[in-house]
Amino acid sequence: MIVILKNNAEQQKVEILKQWLENQQLSIHESVGEYQRVWGLVGDTSRIDTDLIEGLDIVEGVRRISEPYKQANRKFHPDDTVIDLGGGNLIGGGHFQYFAGPCSVESEEQIIEVAKAVKKSGANILRGGAFKPRTSPYAFQGMRAEGLRLLLLAKEVTGMPICTEIMDASHLDLFEEVDIIQVGARNMQNFELLKELGKTDKPIFLKRGLSATFQELLMSAEYIMANGNSKVILCERGIRTFETATRNTLDLSAVPMLHEKSHLPVVIDPSHASGIARFVKPMSYAAAASGCDGLMIEVHNDPAKALSDGPQALRPEEFDEVVKGVEKIRNALKD
Ligand code: PEP
Ligand code: MN
Repeated sequence: MIVILKNNAEQQKVEILKQWLENQQLSIHESVGEYQRVWGLVGDTSRIDTDLIEGLDIVEGVRRISEPYKQANRKFHPDDTVIDLGGGNLIGGGHFQYFAGPCSVESEEQIIEVAKAVKKSGANILRGGAFKPRTSPYAFQGMRAEGLRLLLLAKEVTGMPICTEIMDASHLDLFEEVDIIQVGARNMQNFELLKELGKTDKPIFLKRGLSATFQELLMSAEYIMANGNSKVILCERGIRTFETATRNTLDLSAVPMLHEKSHLPVVIDPSHASGIARFVKPMSYAAAASGCDGLMIEVHNDPAKALSDGPQALRPEEFDEVVKGVEKIRNALKD
């Protein structure tokens, strides 16, 4: 971290700042130029609040050289992290996974039918929402605990590990048998929830917030990791932009950027990113070509009657086509 002091900085205040920084176990390397006095801080600066220093009247500016996230940072963990999602289904480091299933669990028949279909097409992980974060309080809120029971039933029938969203840490007891816990875009910065998930040993599927930067996403992953759980999967699900023709804007640069900055697996969700079922195939192909570690795709046996996100849901036969195409692309890239 670099601290640039003002030209006319009062020496007494400079000494106080110096003392304070040294008390934080940082050493200061000073270089004095004709117009500027610059401090290079050496040590672990991740706990330093740059805004606090920048706000001092003796300081001209502060720049971070190293990222504030450590455990999620590839610099300190050069190899890709490989996570067992349950039943030996690995993700990361060349292992690819499809997370497929309906936006919401709606009935026993629906979830079992969809689970069997997506499994047949090659998906190893069943996704389905039981607790749903809906914009309107009048919209379907999910089947909640009963939805979790049906997901576990689908797991029993198909043997697929299940991935489902948690909205509140007080529900954690209900998630005991869930294989992968999803944190939705709206909760990406629910730090108390992230801390609690850090105390579990389950893989956490962390979705990027609607207007979160990559650094903010990685800092949220860091919350989980700093509390003891290193099994974090990052998911790009589209961000808010000025464009309204699609539900969100798929930021595919997430794949190379997050792979560069972090060792954690990166999954693309083209369903929420576009909001349009017919766009899911081309966006899945693009995502596969970009080198992602998996895809999360919403699939419904009767999208027109879906209780949430019907317009973006694929029918099982459409999902089957997507998997076939994605596999071709992945194989072509291996050659
Ligand atoms: C979902 O996966 O159904 C969901 C609500 O996603 P997001 O949090 O990305 O909107
Ligand atoms: Mn959805």
